[in-house]
Amino acid sequence: MVDSCYEPTRNLCDRTLRRFGIETSYYAPGDDIAAHLKPNTKAVFCEAPGSLTFEMQDIPALASTAHAHNYGSGGTSVLIDNTWATPLFFRPLEHGVDLSIQAATKYIGGHADVMLGYVAANARHAARLHQVHGDLGLFASGDDCFLGLRGLRTLSVRLARHQETGLTLARWLQGRPEVARILHPALESDPGHVLWKRDFSGACGLFGVILKPASEAAVAAFVDGLQHFGIGYSWGGFESLIVPAHIKRTAKLFAAEGPVLRIHAGLEDAGDLIADLEQGLARMKDAP
Ligand SMILES: *Cc1c(COP(=O)(O)O)cnc(C)c1O
Repeated sequence: MVDSCYEPTRNLCDRTLRRFGIETSYYAPGDDIAAHLKPNTKAVFCEAPGSLTFEMQDIPALASTAHAHNYGSGGTSVLIDNTWATPLFFRPLEHGVDLSIQAATKYIGGHADVMLGYVAANARHAARLHQVHGDLGLFASGDDCFLGLRGLRTLSVRLARHQETGLTLARWLQGRPEVARILHPALESDPGHVLWKRDFSGACGLFGVILKPASEAAVAAFVDGLQHFGIGYSWGGFESLIVPAHIKRTAKLFAAEGPVLRIHAGLEDAGDLIADLEQGLARMKDAP
């Protein structure tokens, strides 16, 4: 599993799956996967860009290495958490992935009022996926599916706006003296930009900001006083969100110059959002 994975997915592996005798080891997002494949590796779980840090991965290269390992004997499959890109901006099965997982709670629902998810599988894995789905008794209610289907109708127009506003905020923040670096693969300056440009057709509104060293009180003064950004985890809805990020790594340390924030650009007016961020950054100066 990639070290930049969504933390609850790590927790599932480290706690629940461990009790079933399933072992999980972690690789850094930039690593060559070949060095990490063991004789008993059944699956590689990736996420690109990764949660909180937005590091890209070369998914087609990873998939071909994993499949060459022992795919023939029913061995190593590749799973991706594709929530950031949605199937509109990245099509995992066309890039060698076997199973693509989507939190439809985020952009597909789009209005922060439903919890849904799905898995898409290639022909090789579809029958098994269907079987497991039945065995585990997983289901989504009719009302929730209605909200998911309704969200799909506006997904493309919403995502275009999330993308545009996200990039506008990211570029504006990049020019600010309080900011050390922006984590957003659609920015030309990002180390993952070349891979993103090759494989993805767009970016959503979620990205990271690394501030220059600042006290906890200064970060709180910035975040707590924002008018248009809620403090929240579950992004992908119409509203802008901000949250301090606590990065958990076990394979390789993620070196951040200062506090890390994750921003979700919602559908509000970009000028209003920038004015709000500008006032927030000004509040940092007065904090102890
Ligand atoms: C939010 C999120 C999930 C889980 O979504 P829920 O439907 O809220 O459980 C999975 N993966 C990523 C990357 C997420 O951001």
